[in-house]
Amino acid sequence: MSRPNDVKRVTVVGAGVAGLVTAMECAERGAEVEILERSQVLGAQACSWLAGGMLAPWCERESAEIEVERRGELALAWWPRHVRETVQRGTLVVAPARDGSEIARFARRTKAHVPVDGPGIATLEPDLAGRFQQGLFFPREAHLDPRRALEVLAGRLAALGVTIRFGTEAEPHALDADAVIDCRGFAARAELPDLRGVRGEAIVVHARGVTLSRPVRFLHPRFPLYIVPRADHRFMIGATMIESEHDGPPTVRSAMELMAAAFSLHPAFGEAEILELEAGLRPAFPDNLPRLTVTGRVLSLNGLFRHGFLLSPALAQQAADRILPARTAQQGVCA
Ligand SMILES: Cc1cc2nc3c(=O)[nH]c(=O)nc-3n(C[C@H](O)[C@H](O)[C@H](O)COP(=O)(O)OP(=O)(O)OC[C@H]3O[C@@H](n4cnc5c(N)ncnc54)[C@H](O)[C@@H]3O)c2cc1C
Repeated sequence: MSRPNDVKRVTVVGAGVAGLVTAMECAERGAEVEILERSQVLGAQACSWLAGGMLAPWCERESAEIEVERRGELALAWWPRHVRETVQRGTLVVAPARDGSEIARFARRTKAHVPVDGPGIATLEPDLAGRFQQGLFFPREAHLDPRRALEVLAGRLAALGVTIRFGTEAEPHALDADAVIDCRGFAARAELPDLRGVRGEAIVVHARGVTLSRPVRFLHPRFPLYIVPRADHRFMIGATMIESEHDGPPTVRSAMELMAAAFSLHPAFGEAEILELEAGLRPAFPDNLPRLTVTGRVLSLNGLFRHGFLLSPALAQQAADRILPARTAQQGVCA
């Protein structure tokens, strides 16, 4: 790998969240960046297109390593600076009355939350008034619409002179650039033998009768789920976590479980229109933590698992630190 001051031209392979965020980090440090993307349009073959868009470092700690929490906090500053539509209204966690112990367990495994009772839940989310008597509120967490976020990033990159060459299937080690950053996600598996796919299925619905201001995690005993609000009463309901690399459409069982849990969160979801039923493979290493590896001029950034939006800013910074000088004050970004 060249020394930081020698790198001028950077090629990023893959225009998922990892690729776009890394390209942004490099372009903001003054590098000449191009992105090669095999699909014809943004998101068409990217796991990132299917994400919920939660930026939830503390809630994720319930099942993730401390590193996810520590490195994820950076995302809460990075995304609002780059995507104005990032919503910072926290996360609400609720459970059915008979499963209060689930709230206690979740509280023990996480931090940066405050307990909320029935009136507190009604104040945060009036549509849930009277439905839940206990929960947790994580006020510092945020969310975004992942598709909109990718589009905004692509637009900002274009303004910085970064081209995305769509329809270009690339082999990172064959490319001629001072540095190549391989952000191919699960497609890089042939070179990363311990990378695996973790299947995630989700539904997008239009529920005119429901208004939520923030992601709600529902600790349903059999089918825990989250619901992430998007514009115009659209909601992403997700997601399954299945140790399978089957890349087919969602199963009836998964769809039923997600819909049943959403219906028990709020019966108005029964009247919702189903807009999308999607399934994707999260790229993950055995420890479910992301990895940056360097081989010659090629840096591989992969294994973002269920934390692509949460951890890309930290990983992108780490990758850029390997090849470029640190950002100067003049290169700071304005939203
Ligand atoms: C249902 C679901 C919900 C999720 N919710 C969240 C969430 O709420 N918050 C969060 O932080 N994360 C979430 N995730 C995880 C997140 O989506 C992933 O971690 C992230 O998308 C991985 O991003 P990536 O850029 O590594 O891969 P991808 O998004 O798959 O991007 C890889 C890109 O590389 C391109 N490519 C592949 N091979 C080549 C090649 N040879 N040449 C050129 N281009 C190539 C592909 O076409 C693709 O565009 C969720 C995932 C799923 C499935």
